[in-house]
Amino acid sequence: MRAVPVWRTTVDRDRCMGSGVCVALAASLFVLDDERSRAPVEFVAPDETVLDAADSCPARAITVTENGRVIGPRD
Ligand code: SF4
Repeated sequence: MRAVPVWRTTVDRDRCMGSGVCVALAASLFVLDDERSRAPVEFVAPDETVLDAADSCPARAITVTENGRVIGPRD
């Protein structure tokens, strides 16, 4: 049986400019805290919404990895 991949979501709070785009796209995965985003749940099951948020971040502050390999943002 193949293991289900786990994605890790991180936000570079130094890069984040508090636009709130990620929160608007995925309110369960990102929260604004002191005008900067953070991911309260670091590890998530694969979810296209996470990649959409990473792609949409104007500061390129969101990184998504799968088993250590960067998969988002997508170029
Ligand atoms: S979309 Fe990017 S810049 Fe905007 S709040 Fe989220 S992490 Fe910060």
